[in-house]
Amino acid sequence: MPAKECLFYKQFKGDAVKCIACQHYCIIKPGNFGICGVRKNIKGKLFLTVYNKVAAQNVDPIEKKPLYHFLPGSKAYSVGTIGCNFKCSFCQNYGISQENNAEMGITMSPEKIVKEALKNGCESIAYTYTEPAIAIEYWMEAMKIAKNKGLKNVLVTNGYISKEVLKKIHSLIDAMNIDLKAFNERFYQEICRAKLGPVLETIKLSKKSGIWIEITMLIIPGLNDSIKEIEKSAEFIKSVDENIPLHLSRYFPSYEMSNPMTSESFLRQALKVCKKHLKHVYLGNLECDSSTYCSNCRELLIKRDYEIINYLKKNECKKCKEKLKGVF
Ligand code: SF4
Repeated sequence: MPAKECLFYKQFKGDAVKCIACQHYCIIKPGNFGICGVRKNIKGKLFLTVYNKVAAQNVDPIEKKPLYHFLPGSKAYSVGTIGCNFKCSFCQNYGISQENNAEMGITMSPEKIVKEALKNGCESIAYTYTEPAIAIEYWMEAMKIAKNKGLKNVLVTNGYISKEVLKKIHSLIDAMNIDLKAFNERFYQEICRAKLGPVLETIKLSKKSGIWIEITMLIIPGLNDSIKEIEKSAEFIKSVDENIPLHLSRYFPSYEMSNPMTSESFLRQALKVCKKHLKHVYLGNLECDSSTYCSNCRELLIKRDYEIINYLKKNECKKCKEKLKGVF
């Protein structure tokens, strides 16, 4: 087992430990795992059982994370481990997120991850597919090496990362895509077995830390597709910063959930409502125009089609000089 002692935990009572990597703050007795299934108490010490084990890796366009205002047209070397701190019944990556075999995947040291990213012409490494907070000690090592080599670090997260971890690693992270799975407590409790509040706190704290953030909402018919609720999400994001791009993503049946896919007409309705509050809202998992236009004069700024063309001039619209927020 390629286990490594975790950094983010504290001694609790007796030989029990308290993990502080994510907002579940699991109390773990000897011989047991935390909710994520990859952090195990071995004789009073917490170990990461997937250290050096990548369950999925791929060279992805950064737009697939999705990040639209961060190095458009670039490639991100994407890695993920098994396990997850959420148990979403609609998970698209359930083949690894709900897996508990720590031996699954390939052995990759942090150095090797960075090497592969450079070899494949990537400008960033994305810690993704499953929740990166659960294997943060592994990723932190890769992040440090990546930074030294001029690569950016991207976290694709459900927002349940702990404040303790975020405070420690914010200077290593360049961008985050944070999932806002719904704007109601019931959805988080019943579908994800988590809470909404900590996710909202992560959004605020990440923004305050100077990390570039974008938000994704997967719209599932019958579960989180109240227009009122979607508008509330947009209002919340606006209260943090109206420049944060929001991606409204189309749901397709997956894993244990068989609700019908989101209709295109509903997504367009949601888009219209969110655009009242936010400067940049995009639809995902759908054939549509996903280009970026100037929020002031509607000039085309970044064309996303078969190829990505960036028309910005020093982050500005060529026509009206309005600045586009992001990393370009
Ligand atoms: S990462 Fe989260 S789910 Fe996993 S053991 Fe730690 S607190 Fe629990």
